[in-house]
Amino acid sequence: MFNRRQWMLGSAALAAQAQPGPRNIVVSSSNGLRCCTRAMEFLKKGEDTLTAAIAGVNINEEDPEDSSVGYGGLPNEEGVVELDASVMHGPTRRAGSVASLRNIKYPSKVARLVMEETDHIMLVGEGALKFAKAYGFPEENLLTEKSRLAWLVWKRSNRDSGGHNNWTDGLDGPSKAKPAAWLRDQFPHASEETLAWAWDMARNPPTGTINCLTLNAKGEMSGTTTTSGLAWKIPGRVGDSPIVGAGLYVDQDVGAAGSTGRGEENIRVAGAHTIVENMRHGMAPKEAALDCLKRIARNYGGDQERLAKFDIHFYALRKDGVYAGASLWSGRVRQGQVTRAKFTVNDGGKSRLEDCEFLLERKS
Ligand code: ASP
Repeated sequence: MFNRRQWMLGSAALAAQAQPGPRNIVVSSSNGLRCCTRAMEFLKKGEDTLTAAIAGVNINEEDPEDSSVGYGGLPNEEGVVELDASVMHGPTRRAGSVASLRNIKYPSKVARLVMEETDHIMLVGEGALKFAKAYGFPEENLLTEKSRLAWLVWKRSNRDSGGHNNWTDGLDGPSKAKPAAWLRDQFPHASEETLAWAWDMARNPPTGTINCLTLNAKGEMSGTTTTSGLAWKIPGRVGDSPIVGAGLYVDQDVGAAGSTGRGEENIRVAGAHTIVENMRHGMAPKEAALDCLKRIARNYGGDQERLAKFDIHFYALRKDGVYAGASLWSGRVRQGQVTRAKFTVNDGGKSRLEDCEFLLERKS
């Protein structure tokens, strides 16, 4: 006979299933489809959550087509790629980061080594490079032909009030070639699409980054954020990505958060830490991230004209597997249409893009 105690135990088990709970899950920025798939493969094999996150973002770090991260990332104003990255490991509550690191393809791996092999948390510039070399990382030129093209176009696009630029063929030059003809001459193998992209990058200096947050079925969490930062930045400029508490924060008891987009705004609100603290005090990931975006809007007194000049995205993953992506703006305007802001999720099957929650609606 099915007695009352068995019935109660049965209903308790059903209720537990209905609740969200720790499970393998990976959350990332919109450029993280392949990253999430690889990180999930690692989680399924029982690998550590940080190992999984780093293995995921390494795909973007080595991808010459991702112009916002690692190899092929858009350089600083001198044409040098400078990388920032951070890692946090929930189970051991440790963190590591590197900033303004040159010539090393995998800054997320170097950040992990700072965490594991030093008594420090953050190494920058020359010191970070020497440290990476001490651990056997090869120095490589991270500038691809494509990113060099975009940089040269940007250099040539800066004009004084008389339309002059020292990086053009000069007053006494034999020809006054049209910019498009000059480009074709300099980069004969570049496609029309690549040339158009370079113009766009010069006129609208992009940000771009990958953040990856992981949770496993044991409830362990980790995260990493890695970037080449803002294109054409002043050498030495450090964004939010390597700042623990801004570009990334993980608290094993609560959850994790990360960010992509204009780092300067994020640093001012310590975004990832703010979101994790919001979750600690009971907000759902969505509310926690939107609250953080409100703080950013508040820094401009809500002035939408100034806010319209940038965007920023947050990703939040709570320890029980509930997650959200949220952006300041509903999306970007592309050819007169608003393209909805997205983020990536993998909860065991195929990686998929989901719509970000947003604070402000972009009109086309
Ligand atoms: N947050 C990065 C930075 O400011 C760039 C980005 O994510 O777009 O360096």
